[in-house]
Formats: sequence, structure tokens, C-alpha cells
Amino acid sequence: THTAASRAIAAAEEHCAHTYHPLPVVVATAEGAWMTDVEGRRYLDMLAGYSALNFGHGNRRLIDAAKQQLDRLTLTSRAFHHDRFGEFCAELADLCGMETVLPMNTGAEAVETAVKTARKWGYRVKGVPDGKAKIVVGTDNFHGRTTTIVSFSTDPEARADFGPYTPGFEIVPYGDLAALEAAVDEHTVAVLLEPIQGEAGVLVPPPGYMAGVRRLCTERNVLFMADEIQSGLGRTGRTFALEHEGVVPDLYILGKALGGGVVPVSAVVSSRDVLGVFRPGEHGSTFGGNPLACAVALEVIAILRTGTYQRRAAELGDHLHAELAKLAGTGAVTAVRGRGLWAGVDIAPAFGTGRDVSERLMERGVLVKDTHGQTIRIAPPLVITREDLDWGLEQLREVLAG
Ligand code: PLP
Repeated sequence: THTAASRAIAAAEEHCAHTYHPLPVVVATAEGAWMTDVEGRRYLDMLAGYSALNFGHGNRRLIDAAKQQLDRLTLTSRAFHHDRFGEFCAELADLCGMETVLPMNTGAEAVETAVKTARKWGYRVKGVPDGKAKIVVGTDNFHGRTTTIVSFSTDPEARADFGPYTPGFEIVPYGDLAALEAAVDEHTVAVLLEPIQGEAGVLVPPPGYMAGVRRLCTERNVLFMADEIQSGLGRTGRTFALEHEGVVPDLYILGKALGGGVVPVSAVVSSRDVLGVFRPGEHGSTFGGNPLACAVALEVIAILRTGTYQRRAAELGDHLHAELAKLAGTGAVTAVRGRGLWAGVDIAPAFGTGRDVSERLMERGVLVKDTHGQTIRIAPPLVITREDLDWGLEQLREVLAG
């Protein structure tokens, strides 16, 4: 049968490079935590665009901000100032407790920007000999898909056949402070880490690890760069996941939810000393900090300032983890991890793969996505109601009951 869904999927299969393996659902509209496919079936979104949709689909405040800006001004390039730019930089810096912002579009671009910042800071400020700068990263990291970023990935799928690889990175076991301490030397300019590793399966490091990283970086005059692209902006119950550890990095890398699921907006946020290393012409982006991006991000920042979504993520997150804990050890689930409205659930191989569970959930009207074979990631929009979350969890319980 040639349904609208099967036609759309066939066209994508035929004409799009196969870099993804999407679930066979074709979404047409969405509101809040719910999506509707081309045939009118409704699904509870338990992925939220990998945390880009923290404030829900079609969030009225964000859509209105975008629409108003669309009618006024969408792009100037950075050749000229525009009237939303200064306000955006000031507000974002203030939200982060920092001074200076460097706006980009995608997460990977912001990570690249952080890498360039750390190297230039290393040569200009720390005094590292030219060409010697080293950045230390963690195993199982996910920071994006550019050639430099995949150069320091430990995931063969992300990395194979994309060499030659960019040098200047050392990979140490994530969560192991002694290994990190041993890797940091006089040429080290930065440590780059996710406070919680999302793609790796929502891996939470041991308590005290991030505080230890902070101490080490301060002692050795090394920048602590926190990739909060997936963990930040409300997801874990705080504005930043590092707040749980009482830790402030030298540099935040933000993306995803910063654009409210409306436009791609990313940024590096740090001190004047660190981002002050750049001179005109040394870095940039045609679309970075464009008026539409700034208008939406300003509304995102205003939403975050209320604290409402952080509180929701914390409260509903406690409930989510209490419920998931009951599933751990039922035979179908081998482990559950996470913080706030964010969880990785490991499926027992004897029961099936993460993909199998995702497909069965889809048949029941719940959308999640597998990561690394045996794990499913749960990260609903923070606007989800407790009733809808309970309904989604009930579907998961029934799928896992076999
Ligand atoms: N860093 C982290 C922690 C991420 O989770 C992601 C995306 O999943 C990225 C970077 C890359 O972001 P983008 O896909 O916007 O390039």
C-alpha cells in the first residue's frame, strides 16, 4: 500500500544519504510533548530532538518571538550590527555568570570554536610553544561530527575512514581523575568534557569527578571546557548540569535548546580574558548570532530565568528515576542511569536491542531512540505532564513485560 508515510520514507531512502536509521514514523505536526504523523496518529515525544525541544513543540513564547522577528529582520551577517545582538550576548553571558559570548549555529561549530579558543589562548596567554597545544578529552565522548571532532572520538562508527585525523588531543577514561591528572602536562591548554555523556547512554560520572577536574584545571592553568550542549538549559533540573557538582567551568559550550527547537543556535560563553584572544578576521560564521537566532534565544533565556522548567525537570525527573529503578533488575533492563528528565535504559541482550524496544514503543504511540545498540534514551520535552509521563512509562513497562 502506498500510504503518505511509506511514500515519504521511500523518497528519503532513495534520495538521502543513509547517515541515519530513523524509526518509520513521518511526523507532520506537533504541540507540547505530542507529535502527529501524516496519517493522524499521535505519539508522545520522549526524545525532544535530543534535548533541542526542552521547552516543547510549538512553544507559544518562542514561536511568537520568531514570528515577530521574521517580520522585522532575519539576517545582516556580522558585517553590520543589528538591534538584537548586543542584548543577546549580554543576556546569555549573564545567564552563564560569564562575560563574553561567541555565537555559532550548530553544536559541532561551537565545539570547534572552543577548540580554536583553547589553542589560541594556549599560545597567546599560557605561552605554549607553537604547534604543541594539547586538549584532553574523555572516552566515549560525543562532541559532534566534524573531521577534527571525530578525530578524538573513540566510537569506530563515528571515526572510521575519515582520517587523516587532527592531532593535538589525548583521550583518557571518562570519570577517572587520576588518568586525567596524568595526561595534563605543560602543553595542555584545555580539558573538554560533557558533564553527563548523552550519546554514550546518559553516563553520569562518579560524584566528585567534576569538582576534581575543576581543581586540577585551576592548579595547572588549563581551561575547563564544559560541553553542555545536551545536558544544559534545564534538562537535568538545573540550568547547567555542572551545578549539581557545584562546579563552574572556564567555558560553556551551548547549543540545542538554546534555539528552542526553532532555529539552530549555539555559542561559546566564557570570560573576557579567554574570548578576548580573538581579533577581527580570526573566526566567524555568516549565520552566527543572526537576528532570528538572537530573538528566539533571548526568549529561551527569559524562559530559563523563571526557573520553571528546571523545577519541572527536577520534580518529574525524580519521579521518572523512581519508576525506572523499579524496572532495573526485572530481567529486561540491566541498568538505568541519568539525572533530571533524562535517562539511559540498558536493555538486556536476551530481551532484544534498543532498536527493538524503540519500535515496539512506537507501535504503542511513544517515540524514543536507541543509542549504541542496547540503550534507549528517555528525554521528553520538559513541558510533559506527569500523566503523560506516567502513560509513556506504562507503555515501556508493557513492552518490557514482553
Ligand atoms: N555535543 C554534544 C554533547 C551533543 O550531544 C551534540 C549533539 O548531539 C553535539 C555536541 C553536536 O551538536 P550538533 O549536532 O548541533 O552539531
